[in-house]
Order: sequence, then C-alpha cells, then structure tokens
Amino acid sequence: MSALPVASEMMFIRDTFGRPLRSLRLSVTDRCNLRCKYCMPEEDYAWLPRETILSFEEMSALTGFFTELGVDKVRLTGGEPLLRRNVTTLIRMLLKNPRIKDLALTTNGILLAEHAQAFYDAGLHRMTVSLDTLRPERFKALTRREGHEKVLEGVDAVVRAGFKGLKLDTVAIRGFNDDELVGLIEYGKRVGAEVRFIEYMDVGGATDWSMDKVLSRAAMLETLGRHYGRIEPIIEENSSAPAQRFFLPDGTTFGIIPSTTTPFCSTCDRSRLTADGLWYLCLYAKDGIDLRQPLRAGASAEEIKALIMSVWQGRKDRGAEERKELERVGARERFIEIERLRQDPHLEMHARGG
Ligand code: SAM
Repeated sequence: MSALPVASEMMFIRDTFGRPLRSLRLSVTDRCNLRCKYCMPEEDYAWLPRETILSFEEMSALTGFFTELGVDKVRLTGGEPLLRRNVTTLIRMLLKNPRIKDLALTTNGILLAEHAQAFYDAGLHRMTVSLDTLRPERFKALTRREGHEKVLEGVDAVVRAGFKGLKLDTVAIRGFNDDELVGLIEYGKRVGAEVRFIEYMDVGGATDWSMDKVLSRAAMLETLGRHYGRIEPIIEENSSAPAQRFFLPDGTTFGIIPSTTTPFCSTCDRSRLTADGLWYLCLYAKDGIDLRQPLRAGASAEEIKALIMSVWQGRKDRGAEERKELERVGARERFIEIERLRQDPHLEMHARGG
C-alpha cells in the first residue's frame, strides 16, 4: 500500500478565492435537547424526515469521498450529536479512515457524562463543550431547560476520561453573560480547558439576534485586560482556525471567534454536511448541494467526487462578510426571514451545525 500524502504535500482543491477544501462539519442529527434563544428560540420545528437521515455507513462513505479530495479535519456536530443513538459507532467507523487526522465533536454537554469515556476509548481526538454560563438560573433562562449541573459533570467526565485540549465555547451576549468572561476563564483554568468566546451571530434560527446584543472582540479584550492586565495575541502562521488566540500574563490561553465584527471568510476552509446529506459551503448559504440523492441512486465514487470537486472549485460565497455589509448599510431585513426558516429546516443553524 502506498503511503498517504501528508497535508503539507497534498495539493488541496481550491475555490475561486484559493480557499482549500479541508475541513468538514458533519451534522449527525437536527434534533436538540436545548432551546437556546440564540439558536432554537421556538419550542417546535419542522424536522428533517426520518427516511432522509443518512445512516452511519452513508455518512462514512460521503466523508470518505471528501477525505480523498483533501479533507483531513472532521467535526461531528448537530443539533445535539449525542442525541443520535450509538454515535460512538460512527466515531469508530470514521477513524478507520486514515486520512482523517483530526476528529472532533461539539456538544452541549447534557448527555456527555455517560458517553465521554466511550468516546475516548473509541479514539475520538478532541472535544468541544458549549458552555455559556456558570450560573444555573441563567442556563435555564437561556436554554429553557434544566441540566446545567449535567454539563459541568460532562466536562469533568471528559477530563477524567483522559482527553487533552478540551475547548469550551461560549457565545458572548451583551446583557446576558458579559459579566462572566473572567469567571469562565477561571473555570477553564481549573478544569484544564481553553475557553473560546464566540461573537453572537445572526445566523439562520437566531431570530432573537440584534447588533446591540453582540459583545464585540474589542469589548471582550477590554474587559479581560482590565482584570488580568496585558493580553498578548498569539501569532499563528497560516492558521485557518476561526479563533484568534491570546495569552494572559500567567500564560493561560483563550480564544475569540469574532465572526460578526471580523468575519474570517477569506481563510474559511470548512463546509457542512447536514444529517440528510445536503452539503453547504457556508454557514450562511441559503442552498445546499444534495449528495444523498446521487449516493442513494448508486452514483459511483468517482461521480460524487467529481461533483464535490466542481462545486468547490466554483465556490465564491463569503456569507459572514455579506451579512456584515447588510448591517453596515443599515438594511432592515434579516439575513434569513422567519417565513423562509419555517418553510425550509435546512436554513436553521441547528440543521447544519455551528
Ligand atoms: N449542540 C451542540 C452544541 O451545543 O455545541 C452542537 C451544535 S451547536 C449549533 C454548535 C455551536 O454553535 C454551539 O457552541 C452554539 O453555542 C453555537 N451557536 C449557535 N447559535 C449561535 C449564534 N447565533 N451565534 C454564535 N454561536 C452560535
């Protein structure tokens, strides 16, 4: 068997702006057990029909086509990925593919305590837990569900299982958790996790969004600088990661993902596959490419790879920049109107993962 080319040698497939096809987010379900105001503000939704949901074999097959075209980073997301039964089986199946160099999973943590060890034992490389607040009553107000203590137990279980490089993702919202930035960093220090603050985005489903709720990167750095003193940016060469990372004076690191004020479209190498096999080139894209249909119709691997390649090579979206431009010119309409969201569940953030 010939050795697989390593990423630095691989000629990535590039889009019209030269962005490589490199990172795939695989949404394993559109279902979620929380109803966060910034993502799923409604109680009930139009769900993807059950028969359209890809099996693990179909997900692995499609992922395999992407990895043959250069993808080497895969993140399992949702909805809430732990709601999909036997997700550990999918992890094991994906890890049989040696082209995947980085397999990560993002979860809200509610069901994590019971799965963390199995994920670790299956070989999952990295975990990210979403944690917006350390206060149970705020968690309940934000998510409209109980379970804050379960999330913290989930974090403990991840650490106990042996995972390294745990990340905690916090959506920073003015007037909600802007007084918890220091508390969250201190909590991250205690459990050995790096906190990443995400600017609140006006993505599909975020019907409660408004610019005055966005806590900007500048505001976050100001608050943290006042508490900790000098904050140094970490210079990372050739990074396509959305997070800008920083050092505190004691060496602690944290990240900010300034998607709203400073979109990173120019280096974005990620695309998204929904649980029913639609491929979206951008979190903000209004249409996806149906890969389930050709797969189920018996198209060959070469045909599906040719489709993926030609679509990526024609990619010209820069959704977050366009969203920002709408804000700048004071457009009154939302990026995706509520009526359209109700008609097409694929437009929702929870269908395509964060
Ligand atoms: N259920 C999993 C979780 O909670 O991590 C995975 C899916 S969730 C959509 C992925 C991430 O997107 C979460 O960290 C969530 O906080 C983030 N997210 C959802 N809506 C957002 C918004 N409007 N702005 C910024 N981040 C958002």
